[in-house]
Amino acid sequence: MTGGFDGVVLGTGHNALVLQAYLCRAGLRVLAVDRAETPGGGLATVANPRHAGFLHNTHSFFHRGITAMPWYVDLELERHGTRYIEPDLNVAMICPDRQVLKWWTDLDRTLESVAGVSRRDADVLAGWIARFEPIVEKLLIPEATSPPLPPEGRREWLERTADGRLLLEVSARSPLEFVRSEFEHPVVRAGLLFFNGLREVDLRLPGFGHSIPALLAGRHKAQMCVGGSARLAEALVADIVEHGGEVICGVEIDGILVERGHATGLALANGERITGVDFVVSGLNPQQTLVELIDADRVPAAIRRRAERFEYNLLAPLFALNLALSEPPVYTAAAADPDLDEAFMTILGLGHDGQFEDIVAAHQQGTVPPTVMWGAVPTRFDSSQAPAGQHTAFMWEKLPYRLGGVADGWDQAGREHGEVMLEAWTSAAPNLAHAVVDWFVRTPRDTVRSLPNMREGDLLVGAFGNDQVGYHRPFPGAGHYRAGVEGLYLCGGSCHPGGNITGLCGYNAAGVVLADLGGKPWWNSAAV
Ligand SMILES: Cc1cc2nc3c(=O)[nH]c(=O)nc-3n(C[C@H](O)[C@H](O)[C@H](O)COP(=O)(O)OP(=O)(O)OC[C@H]3O[C@@H](n4cnc5c(N)ncnc54)[C@H](O)[C@@H]3O)c2cc1C
Repeated sequence: MTGGFDGVVLGTGHNALVLQAYLCRAGLRVLAVDRAETPGGGLATVANPRHAGFLHNTHSFFHRGITAMPWYVDLELERHGTRYIEPDLNVAMICPDRQVLKWWTDLDRTLESVAGVSRRDADVLAGWIARFEPIVEKLLIPEATSPPLPPEGRREWLERTADGRLLLEVSARSPLEFVRSEFEHPVVRAGLLFFNGLREVDLRLPGFGHSIPALLAGRHKAQMCVGGSARLAEALVADIVEHGGEVICGVEIDGILVERGHATGLALANGERITGVDFVVSGLNPQQTLVELIDADRVPAAIRRRAERFEYNLLAPLFALNLALSEPPVYTAAAADPDLDEAFMTILGLGHDGQFEDIVAAHQQGTVPPTVMWGAVPTRFDSSQAPAGQHTAFMWEKLPYRLGGVADGWDQAGREHGEVMLEAWTSAAPNLAHAVVDWFVRTPRDTVRSLPNMREGDLLVGAFGNDQVGYHRPFPGAGHYRAGVEGLYLCGGSCHPGGNITGLCGYNAAGVVLADLGGKPWWNSAAV
């Protein structure tokens, strides 16, 4: 490590890397520090330790519309070797009764599949997609790619147009209310809620009724990074280094230095100190940043209290079963519908929308609901992730963080639950009985061990209720990426527009930091 940095970043999650890359390209010298051995946070691809050549994406895999993100283009990530695939059959839901619902990148094919279950629901769906296409393009994308407006300003902006008024009206409902009031068939309802909503916002939350039609109307679907999710992180790091930045991993952070009310550096557990910087940006959560890493008397008391109260999603933790395979799963249902062999995301165990309530109840009680799981076979689309002719596959299940109310509950029960998932998977794809070379699980507890910012296993790094949305995300007084201490900023998934691999928290925060420094953005930044 060399000295003389203008700024320092905590963590190397993708939002932090996006921010760092923008600021380095603006001519600033920026250092990022992470406790993990490799950069990227949720962009993780690990080699199977027992069988050479099998790669597993242990955190994120489905990257929605990445190639259309402004930062993907601005940072010229393909020049650094990144390549994405967006498979045509984006999602297939194989119901327990073998009924199938398919979500294609081609809308007409999707509507045809829905019509096969309910003609009426297909017509309603077509209507909502048509209404939401301009809303996504003119309102929701600009909103996600800018620092959020204050609530009154936002309402005024939306009330000016018919599209804006429709967005306000639909968003007043919850996704669950929206789907149940608009669609009739339990399979279609389940498909709509789970195709796109499963790992997104809590489906019960008022204020998010628009999320389902918006996801349906968005032009870009789930994509995957060739070579594994970590390749995206590597490309971001390459751009940072090319523009004079530094990334150091495997170092614990002891504290954020604050002098005379201004954030000025970091203390590292190895005894080193990074001092004299103009800004500190945290890609961690608000509690880590404002409660654990700064002395209490250096943070305004009200800010510290709000950070302490920051809440996490009850429904976000995932349990993962990862497989190394000698051949890909062959679903019995594919005999009647060979398209299923080409599906990107496959959902199993889901047949009606009422199962959502089972999942919620299980999370509240710390129990395991009947298996609903979804996953992919990355090697169907990218043979580089396994030895020649062999495959990797995974399934995820939404399960409570605290099994039986105990945070470490999964340490005992993880392997056993993996067997339950494998059995359910094998009953849909019988060849798994002989095709499994190796398998391992990652529990919600493992998520927190590798990424402690995902408190309570919340992969979205913060609930969307409790006023933790938009201008007030993570909380009033620390929205707009400014953390409530001069020179200190937040840029992780706890900020607007929220978790998942979008890079937009980092993208928006970069504009705010540069504007505060009096710098001129080299990109088309909406920050003020
Ligand atoms: C199992 C699983 C599957 C997922 N699947 C998807 C998916 O398919 N699609 C999708 O869009 N999203 C998915 N996600 C969610 C996605 O990974 C996260 O929302 C996203 O990674 C959050 O990005 P971030 O920039 O906030 O930082 P993170 O990716 O959370 O990274 C935070 C970084 O900070 C570091 N850090 C944490 N604490 C400290 C500390 N004290 N000191 C120093 N460094 C620290 C970590 O090591 C890490 O590198 C998944 C998550 C999980 C767990």
